[in-house]
Amino acid sequence: MFDDLKILDTTLRDGEQTPGVLITSNEKLRIAQTLDKLGVDIIEAGSAITSKDEQKSIKLITENNLDAEICSFARPLAVDIDTAIECDVDSIHLVIPSSDLHIDYKLRKTRPQVEEMAVNATEYAKDHGLIVELSTEDATRTEISDLEHLYNLCIDAGADRICACDTVGILTPDKAYDFYHQLSKLSRPLSVHCHNDFGLAVANTLMALKAGAKQAHVTINGLGERAGNTSCEELVMSLESLYNVKTNINTELFYETSQLVERISGVNLQSNKAIVGENAFAHESGIHADGVLKKSETYEPIKPETVGHRRRFILGKHVGKHVIHEKIKETNTEVTDEELNRIFARIKSLSDMGKTVTDVDLQAVTDDILHINPEDSLVLEEYTTVSGNRVTPTASVKVNIDDEEKIAAGVGVGPVDAVIEAIRKSIEDVADISLEEYHVDAITGGTDALIDVLVKLKHDDEIITARSTEPDIIMASVEAYLKGVNKILTDKNRK
Ligand code: MN
Repeated sequence: MFDDLKILDTTLRDGEQTPGVLITSNEKLRIAQTLDKLGVDIIEAGSAITSKDEQKSIKLITENNLDAEICSFARPLAVDIDTAIECDVDSIHLVIPSSDLHIDYKLRKTRPQVEEMAVNATEYAKDHGLIVELSTEDATRTEISDLEHLYNLCIDAGADRICACDTVGILTPDKAYDFYHQLSKLSRPLSVHCHNDFGLAVANTLMALKAGAKQAHVTINGLGERAGNTSCEELVMSLESLYNVKTNINTELFYETSQLVERISGVNLQSNKAIVGENAFAHESGIHADGVLKKSETYEPIKPETVGHRRRFILGKHVGKHVIHEKIKETNTEVTDEELNRIFARIKSLSDMGKTVTDVDLQAVTDDILHINPEDSLVLEEYTTVSGNRVTPTASVKVNIDDEEKIAAGVGVGPVDAVIEAIRKSIEDVADISLEEYHVDAITGGTDALIDVLVKLKHDDEIITARSTEPDIIMASVEAYLKGVNKILTDKNRK
């Protein structure tokens, strides 16, 4: 059981079939190199016949002499196989539909015709020196006897590996065990390819491997058609941590690999995604956080470093004093019990108001209570803005950043937008800060009302909140923005 397992990663083929995802050649190479470092055995680099671009991508990858076997998807057609050969791949994932549903409705052929195509294609690919992974689409809705017949014909024709696909994700873990167990007696290694339509892809793949399959098809972040494929990081960590199986994967590269694929694919991970999600090792509850600080095993099944991730404590409404104290100590700041109590009370009241308190907020609160007044790095000397019904709202600013004067101009949809844009430009060499949210409230009635502006700024994946209240909406906005930027710059200088 679980001996000599191989991992085939299909992020670049099935993963790229994720609705809305398009990856360029250079990005594909970057992902392939990262997968190679991660230690996957086989990289399905694409489907060569798809387009000239796809061929270029696969060639770029095969030219790179990676350790992994490089594979192309192919239909049982000579033209598909020839195109794959032109890309210098080591192997093909030769896919043939096997269910009556696919043979009748999709191919409009008979089963013997399909078998003949599969055998001919296998022989053709073997004659051209390729490793052949003979794979059947919709295998899990095909009679086992039909599958065995087809697989044995192709094994006789030279197929090196056999793959049975749960194309529409209809297996359950117990069915997966029975299904792959029946096929595990074939004379070639068996491969499992699962889809996550019911959220069972990882569980089904585990059961297939337990039943005797020797290879698993996976994608990073579980990308793939519809609800995706078996997630590489979830499968491998389940094998390693829950079944005690050592794989060839360098698990500590999972987080950075996941981040790279997230950035390139544009498919954002849910925060509670297992293993690599932002919250996978985040603790908010005071009891949990306190436990983790004493011994991480209390509320973490594995250490975040195992997968290259990091532990985070969220200073939310459940935060405990102990965690706050630890966070303050991390910045080499000493506080008395009295001061800690006051900081704790302030953080509690901020989170009671519905605000997520970040590390920077904690720093600002601590500075305030300890009467540490870091000097503002950014000071606005002057601003001018022009707006009207027939002019493009324009603004110019003169600012002082760490005693250096800068002048910048900006345009926007209105005067506030124009001034903020001008300030952003004046600091773009110093820090890359984006405005994520902007809220305005008129506190009292009338056009002379006090205006309360709240901004959320983003810098290095951290969100900083700042607010200001003024009678003038432009000044309130500018002040709030400046406060936020100064919080970020102070924090940056400290590091
Ligand atoms: Mn698939």
